[in-house]
Amino acid sequence: MKIRDVKVMLLTAKVPPERQYASDFGRVTSRSAAIVRIDTDEGITGYGEAKGTPLVMKSIIEHELKPQVIGEDPTKVTYLWEKMYNGSRLGLSLYYGRSQPTSTAPGELMCAISGVDVALWDILGKSLNVPIYKLIGGAVRDRIKAYASAGHGKVGRIGQEFAGYVAKGYKACKMRVGGMDHPHMVAGSRARVKEARETVGPDIDIMLDAHGSTGITDAIKLAKAVEEFNITWYEEPAIYHNIKGLAEVRQSINIPVATGENLYTRFGFRDLADARAADIWQPDTAMAGGITEMLRIAAMASANEAQLAPHVWGTAILWAASLQLAAALPNYYYFEFSQTYSPLLTELISVPVQVDKDGNVPVPDGPGLGVEVDPEAEKHFPFEESASEYAPAT
Ligand SMILES: [Mg+2]
Repeated sequence: MKIRDVKVMLLTAKVPPERQYASDFGRVTSRSAAIVRIDTDEGITGYGEAKGTPLVMKSIIEHELKPQVIGEDPTKVTYLWEKMYNGSRLGLSLYYGRSQPTSTAPGELMCAISGVDVALWDILGKSLNVPIYKLIGGAVRDRIKAYASAGHGKVGRIGQEFAGYVAKGYKACKMRVGGMDHPHMVAGSRARVKEARETVGPDIDIMLDAHGSTGITDAIKLAKAVEEFNITWYEEPAIYHNIKGLAEVRQSINIPVATGENLYTRFGFRDLADARAADIWQPDTAMAGGITEMLRIAAMASANEAQLAPHVWGTAILWAASLQLAAALPNYYYFEFSQTYSPLLTELISVPVQVDKDGNVPVPDGPGLGVEVDPEAEKHFPFEESASEYAPAT
């Protein structure tokens, strides 16, 4: 089998005013995505999501990565990963057994490689008529416990918001804290956490996510202020590149620290491990290096006794790829399930995107990613170049 074509579909879904929400990032008015489509000479097509800036993804993938993989056997997934990552030094890298990555902007390049890698795994699974999880060791579970990820409600709303997720079956909910409660990061967030806990009672897990907005001092103050509410994890209490700061927070508080949605490759997570900066690692399959690199990161996490709660904030393609990993990885701890309005998550694939009555997500059993992608996606979600995800918070 040979790779015949590599294309990127650019998609946009507008968020209607009544479904918009705000966090410290601003108000979300639209969502755009870059979906990789790889066609083969045997009629098998694979899909992957590349999480970087959509137009940049199209440029990197169609102009830099496509020439490297066109005509190649798509089932040589690791080889093609190394080829994209090491570029012209692939030969040196394989000879010496040491990575020699190309110097192209590493973050966006890793997002682009991630999208191609997942599409290659999809093709490999489809060519053998098995789901990807069977190719990476087989299932350790057939469903994964999920947490409802949103929690943008203000005081007086957050309890009701969480009660809605619990009514759907979720046993865990994550809320945004810190920057979105500016100028009362600590007291404002504490009031919302208190309302959430008092509404859902003691048996629901509650996670907090500060998006790195708080800084070290406020992060520690906030953690101490909410400790009594039994918090499952505190995510990005410091900005992602401040790994020493995260370690400082972790040593100072009694809530597990989570981070990783802005880290790339096993090398980024090696630094996190060296600093003993997090209890829970959150690599994003559409950013950190695809399924190939997620397997390496997952092994490192296990060796460092870190649980995996990967970042799953994107389209249904990332959702499906993450579920394949959740099926096969013993240390996959919790599955992120966005509750915000997102047709690119809920209307792009053939299987229902939902939890069961116990708050678990079943793993699709079809070949490859286990799902079929809407062949008319570009027609249903026409890309808008000018669409900006965030408007300033009000
Ligand atoms: Mg997060």
